[in-house]
Amino acid sequence: MLIYGKEIRESVKEEVKRAAQEHQMKMTIIQVGEEGPSAAYINGIRNFARDVGIDVTVLNFASEISEAELLAKIDDLNRDPGLTGIMLQKPLPVHINADLVVNAIDYHKDVEGIHPFNLGRLLTKEHGVKPTTPKAVIRMLKAHDIDIEGQKVTIVGRSTILGGPLAVMMIAENGTVTVCHTRTRDLIQEIRNADIVVAAMGKMNFITADMVKENSVIIDAGINFDENGKMMGDVHPEARAKARVASAVPGGVGVITVAELFDNLRILAERNQGR
Ligand code: NAP
Repeated sequence: MLIYGKEIRESVKEEVKRAAQEHQMKMTIIQVGEEGPSAAYINGIRNFARDVGIDVTVLNFASEISEAELLAKIDDLNRDPGLTGIMLQKPLPVHINADLVVNAIDYHKDVEGIHPFNLGRLLTKEHGVKPTTPKAVIRMLKAHDIDIEGQKVTIVGRSTILGGPLAVMMIAENGTVTVCHTRTRDLIQEIRNADIVVAAMGKMNFITADMVKENSVIIDAGINFDENGKMMGDVHPEARAKARVASAVPGGVGVITVAELFDNLRILAERNQGR
């Protein structure tokens, strides 16, 4: 069975819309250089913002902006009392240290949930903002009544925005978690062992039918584009067909991710009220 994210996104949208009537919310997106492949993501954010009545501004800086200038801009945004959330569109040009810039964002305005303070809160299981794509993966499983507790979960990918925090969140949901990466010795066996596989690697059609067991659940967070510009996941369509449940690409995790950004904005607005 193929599962999709649209209905889930719409239900989060309703929740955010209600919250926006109670709390003033405003988000700024920092973009450095050309829009490139991020244009579709930013458009998705703009459309969602329009639907829920939230003010989103995109600040576009030339790719030559210095690290110091960007840090100064973030400092200004941190001090703006009317601003709820700051999002940093990545990648940044190579002369800018992206970690330094993320660390400079006030964690109270970290709408992506990627500031080290907020990532630390994940480990201590405190309520707060969380990285958006891992949130989307967990929400998708829960929305389809797929148990995580006690299940063997294999995550392929360990990035700071996706595979890494997802592993922590899956442990918090009482899954038994294996995290795979390019140094994993027997990746196929680790995938075959799993009740739930999450593909988060960025390798088109990498996970093939022979790698997955029949009763498994596969969530595909990968976004790749083939030579015709068609969006493809990390999981081959035949592997999807073999699984008990598999998420669609496009139309799966990706469409929920934007909603999770606004869910984080809602959490920041509610937490920061009266701060
Ligand atoms: P990333 O930073 O490049 O990380 C990729 C991870 O996959 C790394 O941990 C890497 O291992 C692992 N990996 C790559 N090739 C592998 C292989 N052959 N065998 C085993 N592990 C392998 O990418 P990311 O930012 O996490 O994104 C991953 C994918 O998710 C991309 O397709 C991206 O577009 C997509 N994504 C989707 C959304 C969404 O909204 N759905 C949001 C963000 C990202 P090492 O650590 O050893 O290098």
